[in-house]
Amino acid sequence: QVRVRFAPSPTGPFHIGGARSALFNWLVARKNGGKFVLRIEDTDLDRSTKESEENIKEALRWLGLTWDEGADIGGPYAPYRQTERLDIYRQYTDKLLESGQVYHCFCTEEELEAERQLLLAEGKTPCYQGRCRSLSEADKIRLAGEGRKPAIRFRVPENQQIAFKDLVRDTVSFDSNGIGDFVIVKSDGIPVYNYAVVIDDAAMEITHVIRAEEHLSNTPRQVLLYQALGLPVPKFGHISLILGQDRSKMSKRHGATSVEQYRKLGYLPEALVNFLALLGWAPAGEQEIFTLEELVENFSLDRVAKNPAVFDIDKLNWINAHYLKQLTPPQLAELVFPHLEAAGYIDGSLNETARGNLIQFLEIIQEQLSYAAQAVEHVDVYFNDQVEFESEEARQVLLDADIPLVMQSFKEKLAALEELSSGAVQTVLKSITKELKIGGKKVYMPVRVAITGKMHGPDLGKLITIIGKERTLQRLNATLA
Ligand code: GLU
Repeated sequence: QVRVRFAPSPTGPFHIGGARSALFNWLVARKNGGKFVLRIEDTDLDRSTKESEENIKEALRWLGLTWDEGADIGGPYAPYRQTERLDIYRQYTDKLLESGQVYHCFCTEEELEAERQLLLAEGKTPCYQGRCRSLSEADKIRLAGEGRKPAIRFRVPENQQIAFKDLVRDTVSFDSNGIGDFVIVKSDGIPVYNYAVVIDDAAMEITHVIRAEEHLSNTPRQVLLYQALGLPVPKFGHISLILGQDRSKMSKRHGATSVEQYRKLGYLPEALVNFLALLGWAPAGEQEIFTLEELVENFSLDRVAKNPAVFDIDKLNWINAHYLKQLTPPQLAELVFPHLEAAGYIDGSLNETARGNLIQFLEIIQEQLSYAAQAVEHVDVYFNDQVEFESEEARQVLLDADIPLVMQSFKEKLAALEELSSGAVQTVLKSITKELKIGGKKVYMPVRVAITGKMHGPDLGKLITIIGKERTLQRLNATLA
């Protein structure tokens, strides 16, 4: 049975890259009828927070990436939070100490730093030189007597080629001589990532370790630990980095980087999942819009590229716009209203009629939206009766010689309408072009500019119907005064 896991460190915002790793694992599990495990790697006691753990879980649920076993729901390999597994790690450490594959290291931070500096000065890559590799019992007693608390280091075998077949990158190989004996348990007794991850992946019978490329250099250390512990080595798949559009590593300066931020901006989970899937995975055909079910059906690791994926925000916007268009007006309103509230356009006092009217307006701008927060840029034409010209060009539209006649006629005909509807407004506009024998553009554009101050916008007939006769006439009079 395929068993995969997502193993976040709850140390901050849930990054898009993490969400993609979770998604790829989830897809592999679902595609193969396997299990998706959520393990919380919280051994960095200073930086791990409960809040971050909750954020991650909340975001995974929102994305629809449900887990079969995990920190909150338990499972056959519980506990799933590393700080609750310290006893388990200790048992393995005892074995390793006994067999001599690891040893106590009494070096202090200062000594290690001095060693690093020395190596750097000699132009060498810093790695631990093995000062504590063969301490005698007497040495150990003396060093402990100085109040030093030992860390535990793994004895890296010399002159070994550590090779593994990566599901994405094919054969990857490292020279053991470049690694240096590394710490597996810190002096405070807390295991480091490379150690805990091996024990957990083995204990939880994980078959495929799918994670970000930044862990590739950790993998040889982990392979050595599997071998030392006599545990089966899982299959590895390292997925490429995510780059910003300028091809540098995706970071804050490229805009939103966390799932939370995208959620807040009004992106839909379906869209984000769809987009994340395409960050590195190339579907076989031309199709780009995929539901989660379709992804499960189509996804395979052998179509995941090893070259970096570029985060194309235009593509995300395009995908999200696609999903936004499918919302019913009330669903759209639910997403958009908090943004209008935050921008001060509405508050809790909105009555049913005003609410219904606003929802109608949202429906006519729905096509234009890439994400819900963008609605704020479009609602001015709805709320603001003080028309301001968006540009000099827009102002010029109203200086044409025909304008007074066009406007006069439009005002009269609009006022005379018994029932206001988009169709009725269109008929009025058409009749003016006939009456004055001028092109449609010379009628539609000035009316639009006079009512909104803008040269483009939502369907004019619908807009006027939603704003209503009174406010439309009021705007016309004010603009033309
Ligand atoms: N806790 C690690 C991280 O968040 C997990 C890496 C792994 O999947 O092995 O980067």
